[in-house]
Amino acid sequence: MSTTADAIRAADAHSAHNYHPLPLVVASAEGTWMTDVEGRRYLDMLAGYSALNFGHGNRRLIDAARAQLERVTLTSRAFHHDRFADFCTELAALCGKEMVLPMNTGAEAVETAVKTARKWGYEVKGVPDGHAKIVVAADNFHGRTTTIVSFSTDHEARDHFGPYTPGFEIVPYGDLTALAHAVTENTVAVLLEPIQGEAGVLVPPAGYLSGVRELTRERNVLFMADEIQSGLGRTGRTFACEHEGVVPDVYILGKALGGGVVPVSAVVADRDVLGVFRPGEHGSTFGGNPLACAVALEVIAMLRTGEFQGRATELGEHLHRELNLLVGGGAVTAVRGRGLWAGVDIDPSRGTGREISEKLMELGVLVKDTHGSTIRIAPPLVISKEDLDWGLAQLRSVLGA
Ligand SMILES: *Cc1c(COP(=O)(O)O)cnc(C)c1O
Repeated sequence: MSTTADAIRAADAHSAHNYHPLPLVVASAEGTWMTDVEGRRYLDMLAGYSALNFGHGNRRLIDAARAQLERVTLTSRAFHHDRFADFCTELAALCGKEMVLPMNTGAEAVETAVKTARKWGYEVKGVPDGHAKIVVAADNFHGRTTTIVSFSTDHEARDHFGPYTPGFEIVPYGDLTALAHAVTENTVAVLLEPIQGEAGVLVPPAGYLSGVRELTRERNVLFMADEIQSGLGRTGRTFACEHEGVVPDVYILGKALGGGVVPVSAVVADRDVLGVFRPGEHGSTFGGNPLACAVALEVIAMLRTGEFQGRATELGEHLHRELNLLVGGGAVTAVRGRGLWAGVDIDPSRGTGREISEKLMELGVLVKDTHGSTIRIAPPLVISKEDLDWGLAQLRSVLGA
């Protein structure tokens, strides 16, 4: 019996089956490559859904983590620690905002944004208590908590987890008219992904984000951009909103902010928004801990160089040029995305997204399917052009293209 089969059987026996992983067991990873328990190597073209934008075992990030591990790792927010102010100052500056509220996971940051918008609505905008509404988009993915799945349109994510949290209005993504109709005097926020990742890397029509910006400003509603997956370099800019010259009121960040080392998330906004919180009204034991701050500070410093955004732009153009050559050839029906991020719709005659992902794995390339016949490609931004080309060659081979 193989080591891989044994490990998978043990995992299946003793873990809840809330995931359906590809059948490999990773033992180590470096840069863009992972090695399994039997010594086989795989090119990582998923990058932990963008949590690994800077690659596995990134030297700068590991060194920053190791140095902090030796000093102090957790204080709780009961005390100040000496990395906290730098982290908040630097992250606020990266976002062009004034204040940061640190959490750990993406879902917690979204929850924090929801609470921020409601409190702002009652205390600043003057919405009657208990009547705040937040407008969201269909096919969204914002996380897995009971409140967040309450406004999901995905049956797998939502069904049998009720009763659901009220106060959310769902409109079609990319439809400004529908959004304008949904906004009332009790609307406190519009919450959107600037590019919908889980939905298949859906880029909204040109003018949508700037339209949302204009509408929310006119109607005194907060524009909250969930940049957890789209942000921090992935699309070729620090934030995907930048492609339309849009600055939202609230950035929701996660995934790559922790450099693939520790979970770090945050809500970032100006004082007139995040200033609504007073001591005791919100918090997290681990949020803003010294280790998280040390790693995130290094992530922010790396983003400040612009190097990773540049790589995503340049290699992204190459990736999309190559993928678009496959469209219409019978294997691929559509390609979407921006930067080093692509949703590839496979013609169902070539297999399901899952089948394609498994065949690619056998050739040493790791991607993940989403929604039936779509595969998602999001390699670490440190990938070399040679490795990217090799990965694309394996894709062409699997697709018979
Ligand atoms: C991954 C993701 C989340 C949730 O983040 P977790 O860390 O898994 O809780 C929220 N929004 C978007 C857009 C995401 O991609």
